[in-house]
This record gives sequence, C-alpha cells and structure tokens, in this order.
Amino acid sequence: MEKTYAEIEKKILEARDISLVSHINPDGDNIGSILGLGAALRKMGKDVHILKVDDIPKNLLFLPRVEEIKPMEKRPDLLFVLDSSDEGRLGDGSKEILKANYIINIDHHKSNTLFGDINLVDASMSSTGEMVYDLIDFLGVELDNEIATPIYTAINSDTGSFRYESTSPDTLRKAANLLEFVDNKVEITKNLYQSRTKVQTEVIKIVLNNLESFDDLSLIIGKISLNDLERLGAQSDDTEGVVPFINEIEGYDVAIFLKEKEEGIVRVSARSKEVCDVSILCEKFDGGGHKRAAGATIEGNLDEAIEKLISAYKEL
Ligand code: 5GP
Ligand code: MN
Repeated sequence: MEKTYAEIEKKILEARDISLVSHINPDGDNIGSILGLGAALRKMGKDVHILKVDDIPKNLLFLPRVEEIKPMEKRPDLLFVLDSSDEGRLGDGSKEILKANYIINIDHHKSNTLFGDINLVDASMSSTGEMVYDLIDFLGVELDNEIATPIYTAINSDTGSFRYESTSPDTLRKAANLLEFVDNKVEITKNLYQSRTKVQTEVIKIVLNNLESFDDLSLIIGKISLNDLERLGAQSDDTEGVVPFINEIEGYDVAIFLKEKEEGIVRVSARSKEVCDVSILCEKFDGGGHKRAAGATIEGNLDEAIEKLISAYKEL
C-alpha cells in the first residue's frame, strides 16, 4: 500500500490539472470522497475539476463546493475515479472520460475490475472516504472544514452512521479526527438521516403495504411498480433509503428492494445482516457491490424478477 501511495503522490506532484469523476446514481461516499480529495488537491495548489455524470441527490447539496461539480469540458490529464467498481459506473460518457491520459482508481468494492493505471483497491475498508482520508494523511495535507466535512459525510453514510459490520476501530479513529474539523455536524445528520421527503415517505408506505416475506429463506422483499412511481412523481433519488428501512425488520438475513425502473427493467437493491454475501447474488445478474450491500439490474417485470432472484438465492 505504501508503495501505491507514493506512486499516487508522484503523479499528483507532476500534474497541474487534476480531474475527479463521480459515478451514476452517486451516493454520499462517492460525492463526499471526490469533494474531500478535490479540496485537498486544491490546497496543494492544483487546478481541480470535479466531473458530473448524473444528478446529485438533494440531501448531498449541502456539501461545500458541490455546485462546482460540472460535466466534462476537456479531456482529463490526470483522472481520479473514486468508489466505482468498473467503467460502467461512469455512465454513457465513460469512454470519453476514460480517454484521460492517466487514471487512478481508488475503491473499496471487492469486485473492482482494476481498470486504472494505478489501482488502490481495498475491500476491507468501510468506504472510499476512509481510503481518501489515508491518502490525504500520506500526502501531509492538513485537514480543514472543506476537506473534513465531505469525507466525514462519505464515511458516515457508507457505514449507515457507523453501524454496519464494515465499521472498524480505525474507521472510528479516522472519523473522530475528521470531526475535530467539521464546522456543522448537525447539518450532516439532518441531511443524511432526517431529510425524508413526502414523496419518499409515500414510496415507503407503498413498499411496506406490499412486502413479501419468505420465512424459510430468511428473505424479505419490497417492491414498487413504475405505475406507482409515476403516480407519485418520484425521481430516482426518491427510492433512496427504502432498502435500509426494510433491512431493519427483525428476523430476515436478506432484505431486497425491487424498483420497476422502466417497462421490463427492474433495479435490485440488496442488503444482508450477517450471513448471505449479497454481492455474489447480484453478480449472478451482472451487478455487484459488497457482502452486506449490493445491486443489479434484472430484465422482466417485478414478479419475474422476484422469481429469478429467489432461484438464484436458493443456489447460493
Ligand atoms: P445500492 O443498493 O445502494 O444502489 O447499492 C449498494 C452497493 O452496490 C453500492 O456499493 C453500489 O456501488 C453497488 N451496486 C449497486 N448497483 C450496482 C450494479 O449494477 N453494479 C455493480 N457492480 N455494483 C452495484
Ligand atoms: Mn462506497
């Protein structure tokens, strides 16, 4: 690892102009990590561009300098890709973006395809935010609010507020150091955990009314149809927070949320508490993620997706 950090440092020192790219359906870890590393690189005197490939969820718009995340304007020289397991996570424009002269890939997904020129991948880390913390520490950049707030937000959100199994003693030590520099921690909590909108609440009501539980499989499934989503006028981030909510129900190791995204296309979000490695389940459908949180896309309607998932789950 030390050697990889030193290689990354060398590339940063040589570059004047550095880009960092977000991913599709960006989450707190992704946006927080790029903003935090971006702020640190700026402090080192670099010209920093943060590239947008998808809309940023409303509850992350409080982060410092989030408004500077912009679509790509020119081919990146040195490019950081953070929290993205494969090139596909960069969306339709990925080919153009990946024409960058040099790519540094920093991630904690065990399924990472190592698509960078340098790959810093560590599946034992709770979050990419934790890895960015270590890199900034190695670079010797002093923390301040603009660096600490997004990175603390990244770690906090990817650990479900330091609850998930991936939270280690080191995770908490890093979070503690960051918190020393965070100006407004109430704002972070409010945005991450106390910002459920009316539409998001309506989505949860529908999902809870239609839960399907499979007690013998220790599996519970929630779902919502395209019809219902359209009726509520729901945007893509209006289904955020549904799967963690279902996963709070006692007695089921696996919680899955299915969203009919388009006619014949179902998005899968899977979580587990203790036993099942849901990344293996999602990989069966060309998706991926982590042991306790993963996702995929399945072709078919909701009932067909449930059938496919159950038979894949039984195979595990
Ligand atoms: P979520 O259920 O919150 O959308 O995603 C949970 C985790 O699985 C995230 O770490 C995310 O990166 C990963 N993930 C979600 N969907 C996909 C997918 O389609 N492909 C891959 N490789 N990973 C995914
Ligand atoms: Mn992450």
